Amino acid sequence: VLQDVLEREKEGKNRKGAKSRIEKKIDDLQENDEEAEIEYAPPEERYPELDHPTNDKQYVEGTVDGEYRDMWVYCETQQGALIDVSREMLGKARELMDGYNEAYDESETVVAVLVGDEVADLAEECLAYGADRVVYHEDERLDRFRHKPYTEIFCHMCRDWGPGWRDYHEPRYTLFPATNNGRDLSALVQGELDSGLASDCSGLYIEAADISNPAKTGTPGESRTFERVLHMKRPDFSGFEYSTILCIDKPHRDFHPQGASVIPGSFEIPEADAEAEGEVFEHDTDLPEEWFHIEVTDYDQLEDGVDLAGNEVVVALGRGIGEQPTKGMELGLELVDVFEEADLGLSRGVITASYEFDTHVEEYVTEERQVGESGQVVEPELYIAAGISGAIQHKVGMDESDTIVAINTDPDAEIRDFSDYYIEGDLFEVLPRLTEALKEGEL
Ligand code: FAD
Repeated sequence: VLQDVLEREKEGKNRKGAKSRIEKKIDDLQENDEEAEIEYAPPEERYPELDHPTNDKQYVEGTVDGEYRDMWVYCETQQGALIDVSREMLGKARELMDGYNEAYDESETVVAVLVGDEVADLAEECLAYGADRVVYHEDERLDRFRHKPYTEIFCHMCRDWGPGWRDYHEPRYTLFPATNNGRDLSALVQGELDSGLASDCSGLYIEAADISNPAKTGTPGESRTFERVLHMKRPDFSGFEYSTILCIDKPHRDFHPQGASVIPGSFEIPEADAEAEGEVFEHDTDLPEEWFHIEVTDYDQLEDGVDLAGNEVVVALGRGIGEQPTKGMELGLELVDVFEEADLGLSRGVITASYEFDTHVEEYVTEERQVGESGQVVEPELYIAAGISGAIQHKVGMDESDTIVAINTDPDAEIRDFSDYYIEGDLFEVLPRLTEALKEGEL
């Protein structure tokens, strides 16, 4: 099934198609043979065009014991303060490493990494939110995120810098925020360290993993247990399924650190412990001037203009507006105008689609209006969702609303399951009728 998905990706076909295809395949399998077994072809057969290293080395489980330790958390800052997801990650890392140390009888630590201008003062706060150790690099040239120096510093801290504070151990696990800058940095660092990355994760736990796929273990017919594996859960297939990504060593190489970027809001911010103590280290290697060849000439801070949560009514539009996006936006805004305290929300589907909007509605198509896991969480008295399918990431941002009305042409869209009223119909017809009826006082 996955091979089929990959084939479709190669052909540039979209995920939505892939999803229904997978469902059909699963149905077929279940109908034809409930015990059906999926055969895994070895990678050389699946991708003959790629260069496949020979698997003549023994599988090295030993990397677990000697060379890697600790969970490193990249703590992003903005305007001299930790951003919330940094605190969330520190709390989660604390919880994970406490469990880890107990399970494996170890004493590995949570290491907070700070990079920027005047970040040393934030070290105490990192300790308060769960770090055992903090390593920071400050330099006024690091006042804004820049790929090259930030990546080089992080990798240098991991690989080359010591001795003393980290006893020559590279990190076992790394966490980054799935923010714009964090996404950049995580991919660059993990690539530079020759490992992998599970991006946009919303769930993490450490456990043993039993892998019976010979393509992974290199030993056909045998299953292997990998210890201390970070299970990284991320939404997939347009948010209708979750995948768990495992970063597992292969016979010919090992993959460390096991790295994830974390969607902001996925974990609780822990209570700060003002009494917490730990070690703080400065990384003070000279930074070559050529790392700063990009000059930042201007910087604009986006204003937080839209607070959807403060409204009694949210009218949210999804990709159902796709046939006439400008018209769809106009109809949504007209409905918003009927209510006293209402505003327009959008699914991420609309924000990431490449619709062309006329200028008078374009200004409304901003991430600030996104409702859901990676957008705003709203609980209005009335939530009207037009042309939204109800992916889990959207649902978590609105399903606590008092009353949910969904408008959808599909009689079985997922959103039906958590709507109070479901109007099966075309939003281009239903929205103006709703607006009219409300204006006339009929509803
Ligand atoms: P679709 O899933 O394409 O649904 C469109 C719906 O419109 C369909 O049900 C269709 O039947 C209906 N329709 C079509 N034409 C009409 C018409 N004329 N009239 C009425 N109905 C019509 N999504 C969010 O919304 N918020 C988030 O915060 C968010 N965070 C995410 C984070 C991550 C890491 C990932 C991977 C995804 C995230 N997503 C988020 C995306 C999410 O998974 C879905 O892809 C997205 O919500 C789909 O948007 P949609 O419902 O508008 O589009």
